[in-house]
Amino acid sequence: MKKTTLALGLAALLSTTAQAAVFESTLYTPSDMPATSLSQSIVGYYYAMDLANKTFAANNVDVQLKPARFKPVADYTSEAAVVPSKNIMADLLVFNTITTDTYYNVVIGNNSGNANGAANIAYSDDDLTNFINFTVMGVATQTLLAADSNVDNFVFTHEVGHTLGGQHDVSNIPVDALGLYTNAYAVPDCGNGESSLVAEDGAAIARASLPLISGASGCQVGSANNVAVMNHVIELEKNDKPLIGNQTLSVDVVENTNTQMFELTVTRTDTTNADTAKVYIAGTQDSTALTAISVSFDVGIATSSVASVPFDKIHPMFDASVSYASVYAVALTDTEVVPALTDLKDFNTVWVKKVEVDNGTSGGESSGGSGGSTSIFLIVMMGAIGLFRRK
Ligand SMILES: [Zn+2]
Repeated sequence: MKKTTLALGLAALLSTTAQAAVFESTLYTPSDMPATSLSQSIVGYYYAMDLANKTFAANNVDVQLKPARFKPVADYTSEAAVVPSKNIMADLLVFNTITTDTYYNVVIGNNSGNANGAANIAYSDDDLTNFINFTVMGVATQTLLAADSNVDNFVFTHEVGHTLGGQHDVSNIPVDALGLYTNAYAVPDCGNGESSLVAEDGAAIARASLPLISGASGCQVGSANNVAVMNHVIELEKNDKPLIGNQTLSVDVVENTNTQMFELTVTRTDTTNADTAKVYIAGTQDSTALTAISVSFDVGIATSSVASVPFDKIHPMFDASVSYASVYAVALTDTEVVPALTDLKDFNTVWVKKVEVDNGTSGGESSGGSGGSTSIFLIVMMGAIGLFRRK
């Protein structure tokens, strides 16, 4: 099982790095976000981005997203309060006006009403020759780390799909659209009972595997071809922003059985100044995240001071983690970021998974919570109309 997963992951990575265009991303979070929610949001952003990259690679959409910037923003919540008739995701897209130094601008908020995600749609007057280079998307924190199931984990990927030109269905395609763009829609059933990624409910389906995208092998229904449209938009966009290339931090973890601590150190590249890094640790349920831990760098030194986290803080997070995910650490400074999550379970030898007995049914984990999602799911597609009218 594990070996299979690893092999697939490696194959996806190889195909991605061979030809995929790299798009860097800025994450915006409310400056008054509670500390544990911030940890969840940042770890969840990495988690969701990894799933998005795997999904695109598996569908031959040639893009690789990378984190690059993290910016707290004031007045999100007041922004939402000013226009109570709108849901928070709509308000988050006010950030269309933010100064952008990366391709992707991901706005994190809470789901205060009826939307878990929102995105601008790369759009053209007719045939994508005048596509709009606004890659702002909003996602709810709750969708990033799979509170109850893996249902919501593809909201992020779905929204990225919109920014790459994907539409829910044919009815969303403007009547004057021509050529390639008329096929820029998802399908409600790929032939396997699952809708393709950018269908209206395409992120709201529990999936045992990565979502298919219309036009990909295994999801060829009618003329729908989001894969072709996304790759077209990627070609148009790929040289638009210079890459920052600052995914240069790394996290090292030692499981110290003498002190009963996980000891985390961060290594940086630029040692010019004294600096601090924040280490964010979160698991995959709402209740399991820690307040960020600060570590410091001396001038000229690449390795940080040690962040020591007691086993009795981390082991309960291991207990609570769902079968398909774990407990992760992310480190950031103002100028450098880690390229990927660090899985703390990879360094564990002491904690042992509790075995649950299921009264004579098959072994393995109990299925509490799965399949019964009550989350109201409504993807809104904001911005396209406003952007269109601006022309
Ligand atoms: Zn959508």
